[in-house]
Amino acid sequence: MGTLKLKGEWLFAWDEMLPEGVQQESSSTILVPGSWNKVEEFPSKGFATYTLFIHHLEANKEFAIKVPAISSSYHLYINDNLVKSAGKPGLTKDETFPAMVTEEVFFTPISNVTKLTLVMANFHHRDGGMWDTLELGTTEQIITKTKLAISYEMMLLGILLLSGLYHISLFLLRKTELYLLLFGTFCLVIGLRLFVMHERVLMEILPAIPFSIINKIEYLSFYSALPLFIWFLYYLFGNEVSKTICKLITYISLPFILTVVVTPVSIFSETLYYFQALTLSTIAYIIYTIFLAVSRRREGAWLVAIFACFYAYTVIMDIVYVQNSLGSFELSNVGLFVFIFSQVYIIAKRLYKAYDEAEKYSAQLKDLNQTLEEKILQRTRSLEQSKKELQSANDTLKKQSYYDQLTKIPNRRYLENVYNNLWDEVQNLEKSISFIYFDIDYFKKYNDTYGHQEGDETLYKVANCINDCITEHNGIAARMGGEEFVAVLSNISEDSLGDFLEDCRKRVENLNIPHSESQSSEYVTISIGAAYVYPKFYDITKQKLIIIADEALYKAKESGRNKVCIDILK
Ligand code: GH3
Ligand code: MG
Ligand code: MG
Repeated sequence: MGTLKLKGEWLFAWDEMLPEGVQQESSSTILVPGSWNKVEEFPSKGFATYTLFIHHLEANKEFAIKVPAISSSYHLYINDNLVKSAGKPGLTKDETFPAMVTEEVFFTPISNVTKLTLVMANFHHRDGGMWDTLELGTTEQIITKTKLAISYEMMLLGILLLSGLYHISLFLLRKTELYLLLFGTFCLVIGLRLFVMHERVLMEILPAIPFSIINKIEYLSFYSALPLFIWFLYYLFGNEVSKTICKLITYISLPFILTVVVTPVSIFSETLYYFQALTLSTIAYIIYTIFLAVSRRREGAWLVAIFACFYAYTVIMDIVYVQNSLGSFELSNVGLFVFIFSQVYIIAKRLYKAYDEAEKYSAQLKDLNQTLEEKILQRTRSLEQSKKELQSANDTLKKQSYYDQLTKIPNRRYLENVYNNLWDEVQNLEKSISFIYFDIDYFKKYNDTYGHQEGDETLYKVANCINDCITEHNGIAARMGGEEFVAVLSNISEDSLGDFLEDCRKRVENLNIPHSESQSSEYVTISIGAAYVYPKFYDITKQKLIIIADEALYKAKESGRNKVCIDILK
């Protein structure tokens, strides 16, 4: 045998406070559960006596009755003995102390008939009377039922508390995600509501807590959960939820919340029906937006849809429970439990996705960085390579532009550079500088006799012979053009210059390149003309020195060729 809900018709005496009970014959009846102002036409404020005769209870066996919260104070008598009180029922508001607690009473029937009498008074709440049913069972059944109900509620409370604190902590770590704060707060608010409702555990822990505070907590948690939840949905699925409607719901909820804070229970409890209407409209709107999200194929929307519908159903059942006492609050708790977890799952999935994406992007970035580094390295290498190539090309170009193609000795341009620098250098020092002209004798005839090809080879040999002589004396020689060569020398003494140049002339002749048409020797010979000066002591320009050297060469030619002619300037 299960427990028995003591619902149905009870004997009822309005405006009567009869601890000894009312007699069956003389009383009217009332339907339980239901507040006396709803099931009958009585005013909500007042007092009355409920009586019920229970037949056929086994005598001498222990039974128990679970007494729900009754609005809003009572004395319970069993067989005319006072066994339990909640608050203190009185004839006037001043004499009455309200209390809303859940109680268990234990008794042993002494006869076949057990009489239950409840003397009630309500001056503090919107509804008066027995709006919930008493439940009869064996002691064991009732204790087990209460234990299970409390355990379940405490488990749910723990989950809500943890979930609330967890999501608020997440928000504190990441303040941009407002939905985390809203959801965390929503969980805490629902947890608080759970703490004061149904088994009313808070009153067990703090029996002294005033009736008005309990009611304020109950109403405030209900009234604030709605705007919290709609904003949570807005921040979680911004596209489907309208901000204007969120604001509207908030603005409508605020006066309700304010009323609960500043007015007594008897006034603010009157606002419940209006707020329930708002809740139902909001639920309808939420369902609409969720289905919008489903039709737009938003990710995870179908999951939200299922759980939200389930929760909406249980909330509606809860409202129906409060209004008609159909006893569906356990279902609402299951709905809440499932709903909270579905939200936790959705948030976790969202966070996981964000984390996953961050990880993916960071890996991509790392890859990109590495490729970039490699690319930079490659580019640097190829740039360095290009630079080297360019440098070597430049060097080659420089060499080419400074060297004579045919003779492979420096060209005129090179010598001019050297001569200019050397001139600047010796200008302030006590150093001499010599400019020297070399010209192959009868070379036109040589070409005519031996051919141009042979002429080129001879040019090469003579050029290198002159170059060797000059470089041995730290000078620079160059091809001036045609069969003419020039050289500059520094820091050679006046006396040794003559010997040196004479030596040069001989070395060319000693190459023993036959020249049958030469009138100065049987071999190829050169004529040499030089100008020698100490620029520091002799006023002369560098151009003038060249002219003088050229004139000296002319003189060497004039004097029969294969000669050296030096003009010492001092
Ligand atoms: P001189 O004794 O008065 O110097 O008589 P020359 O014949 O040597 O002088 P001239 O200026 O009359 O002739 C120079 C010749 O040099 C003319 C040209 O055939 C020859 N020559 C100039 N450049 C080259 C060259 O690159 N290769 C060859 N094979 N011959 C050249
Ligand atoms: Mg010449
Ligand atoms: Mg010549």
